[in-house]
Amino acid sequence: MSRSKSQSPSNERDVPPPAPEPLPAPVADSHTHLDMQGRSTEESLRLAAAVNVTTLVQVGCDVRSSEWAVQQASAFPSIHATVALHPNEAPRLVLGDMDQWAGPDTHRAAGGTAALDAAFARIEELAADPAVVGIGETGLDYFRTGPDGVAAQQESFRRHIALAKRLGKALVIHDRDAHADVLRILAEEGAPERVVFHCFSGDAAMARTCAEAGYHLSFAGPVTFKANEELREALRATPRERVLVETDAPFLTPMPYRGRPNAPYLIPHTLRSMASTLAIDVKTLCETVDENTRRVFDLV
Ligand SMILES: [Zn+2]
Ligand SMILES: [Zn+2]
Repeated sequence: MSRSKSQSPSNERDVPPPAPEPLPAPVADSHTHLDMQGRSTEESLRLAAAVNVTTLVQVGCDVRSSEWAVQQASAFPSIHATVALHPNEAPRLVLGDMDQWAGPDTHRAAGGTAALDAAFARIEELAADPAVVGIGETGLDYFRTGPDGVAAQQESFRRHIALAKRLGKALVIHDRDAHADVLRILAEEGAPERVVFHCFSGDAAMARTCAEAGYHLSFAGPVTFKANEELREALRATPRERVLVETDAPFLTPMPYRGRPNAPYLIPHTLRSMASTLAIDVKTLCETVDENTRRVFDLV
């Protein structure tokens, strides 16, 4: 008895949250990882469409997931792909695994710069596919990657910026604990015309800096967390025409289901919370966000 009681909370954490009330107008989940959500693509799309999340941007993090993203985007008209080596993947290719976070099935042996070159060459090939609407996620992550990996990470980021510019595609940025260096390197390289900061985590001042530079800011589940008033201030400081919404699923599940598995069909929680923060009606925010997503990724 006591045993099953103590087990139930941890089991509950694995239970997918129920579907929320559908949104009044279609929106896009601007950043998701369907390959990590344990459902078929058809089922993910069906659940999302039932709540008016009708477009998904499927994001690649390494060669394998980038190849998968292109396949899915080619097979399903409502999915669009981005391809890249994640900021934590680049140093792993060069230096090998620095910890076990990725699990044994994706173990990387130290391959030096040659491994980064080979993987990036494959990303360049994939990036040319018409189903690919963006280069990412790339950027910097100083939370997971220590000082040893910074050089490889920055070099990889610079190459991805150049690729986005060469192909005229959007650049999708992952920035974790690295705001100043991300902005500096973008300025040094010259940013592509269309840039998205995914899961924006800066403050209001940084939101203004990004908006002035013409970047788009995508908000995820953390904007619904009670403690994140600073992030809501950043949302209020962002011009409406620069705002996107995303899940980054299976991570960052919005309230009231924080800690349980995330998926695109949970976008309505984040979007409704954002509308309340901005004191605008939900339908208007849906329309604005959908238009912004289409413009920044050049979707038809
Ligand atoms: Zn990310
Ligand atoms: Zn992501």
